[in-house]
Amino acid sequence: MNLNTQILIAAIFGVLFGLLLTAQPDTVFAANSLYGLGILSSIFIGLLKMLLIPLIFSSIVVGVSNLQAGGQFGRVWKVTALSCLTTTTLALILGISCAHIFEVGKGIDIMVFQAAMQSHETPATLTPSSFLTNFIQNTLINPFKAFSDGNVLAVVVFALFLGVALVRGGERFNSVRQISQQFFEIMMMLVGWVMKLAPIGIFALLAKLIATEDLSVLSRLFEFAVVVTGTTIFHGLVVLPVLLWVFGKMNPITFFRGARAALVTAFATSSSSATMPLSLKCAQENLGVRPQTAGFVIPLGTQLNMDGTALYEAAAALFIANLMGLDLSLTQQIIVCLTAIIASLGAPGIPSAGMVTMIMVLQSVGLPAEAIAILLPIDRLLDTVRTVVNVQGDMMISVVVDRYAKQVETEPS
Ligand code: ASP
Repeated sequence: MNLNTQILIAAIFGVLFGLLLTAQPDTVFAANSLYGLGILSSIFIGLLKMLLIPLIFSSIVVGVSNLQAGGQFGRVWKVTALSCLTTTTLALILGISCAHIFEVGKGIDIMVFQAAMQSHETPATLTPSSFLTNFIQNTLINPFKAFSDGNVLAVVVFALFLGVALVRGGERFNSVRQISQQFFEIMMMLVGWVMKLAPIGIFALLAKLIATEDLSVLSRLFEFAVVVTGTTIFHGLVVLPVLLWVFGKMNPITFFRGARAALVTAFATSSSSATMPLSLKCAQENLGVRPQTAGFVIPLGTQLNMDGTALYEAAAALFIANLMGLDLSLTQQIIVCLTAIIASLGAPGIPSAGMVTMIMVLQSVGLPAEAIAILLPIDRLLDTVRTVVNVQGDMMISVVVDRYAKQVETEPS
């Protein structure tokens, strides 16, 4: 049985086992099972996180230096940036439109949430300008500190510089380039080993999620949850595949087959960072993306390209406004979209990161930050689907960018 099939079967059994545990809460069997599931999922996530920083570092250094050596770096990063911006903008338009069409939040009494909002500690004001200052202060730092703190963005920036410098420096840095290449290959070998554990890890993560999350909280915000999830799925199943077909010339079914392992892992972990090693492997080995393109686009996209998160933040801002009986003007909605782009750029690829950066989106149009207390109880569940779309976007863009890079290479100069 191949790994993809094992992962799907494990996911189904994980959900079933989770439901079994929910049916008999407070039993010794349930407590022991949850303990065991906790250990198994921590091992799987821990191994992925262990590889994350060295993998991001080496893949960007190698990817960028190979692209640069082939004279393609300039074009590749521009196409990557343009693709990310296009898909995120489409996700935002979709999120805002669906929130309007379905009038999410209208007619619900905000008093129902009063207690949750009052007990919620208001975080310090987060404005786009303070966010930008923090962003710079946390990104341009000592790389060794960044490595040890697991600060992905700072590692990405340092690796980008290093990759460019390795090529600009010419022949004399060849041995460092070779070492980086070999180090990257070793990391990918380790990813291959961790992937073998994916079925067990996914089984444990999903069973734990179903058994510990209170699914009944969904009922209070049912309409919002359905609209946001439906819209996110529409983006993932219709918008992104059409773009892939048109610009990447890849059949979406081929894409989903190849990306399956990474997408299921994203669903189970709600973390695009933890999923990144698998996304990279699937893109290279199943989708035929050349290592230099995947090695640049996937780690960068993991950090900066989050369609699902942007869509969620925009729709959630409108939901909160409706709940409070406020009508956002067109300008305010544009501000929401622009802030949601910044927020999705800054959100790390970890569970519920979008909730933190959403404070900025709410505050940008004068909505109270405490309102996130309304959404927090259901966030872990909604995070599953938006993380899948975040990861899918990165892998899809790597296909499109690679096709473009190959095309440019074969054009007669
Ligand atoms: N969990 C998401 C991710 O890792 C981020 C978010 O909370 O929206 O991609």
